[in-house]
Amino acid sequence: MDRHVQEIIADLKSYLEYLREMGIESVPISEERPREAFLNSSLIPPMPPTLEEVRKELGDCRRCKLHRTRRTLVFGEGNKKATLMIIGEGPGYEEDVQGKPFVGRAGQLLTKILESIHLQRGEVYITNIIKCRPPQNRNPEPDEIQNCYPFLLKQIHAIQPQIICALGTFAAQTLLKTDAKITTLCGKFYEFTL
Ligand code: SF4
Repeated sequence: MDRHVQEIIADLKSYLEYLREMGIESVPISEERPREAFLNSSLIPPMPPTLEEVRKELGDCRRCKLHRTRRTLVFGEGNKKATLMIIGEGPGYEEDVQGKPFVGRAGQLLTKILESIHLQRGEVYITNIIKCRPPQNRNPEPDEIQNCYPFLLKQIHAIQPQIICALGTFAAQTLLKTDAKITTLCGKFYEFTL
């Protein structure tokens, strides 16, 4: 098993075990969520967009160089009003081929880990920091994250999850706006506001 997969599994296991220790055994799905405005932001409109609107705005995105090498733009999938949102780093080979997030080996393990806390994949929303696969699965570069991140924020705004689970170094560092090592970030709760 490669290091990337091991890191993802270790992060998620640690996070979910922490939730269980906090007494959270399951995550309820809500059909209707309040549509109140989030905090004002230059990137985020006051009223939440729908995921369909975010996807339409992203379009056949060519905002960074990854569009040249991707096969498929992997937007994300799952419950549009999920309580738990899972955010990874970026699509890998299988994701690029299938156009879906976390469908490779790491994805199969993610499904099993979710099931171990009585969650089905369809109950959560899964996406990545960047939507296109970097060549040879290299790390995302700053300009790529910078171009893609506004659309992740809009996805979060649309879904309004109560819990965001960041998988891996780039997801955690980007969401928390920090350069801190994953070993110091892992297994803790942080406030996240748009
Ligand atoms: S990674 Fe994001 S910003 Fe870059 S081309 Fe893909 S969708 Fe556009």
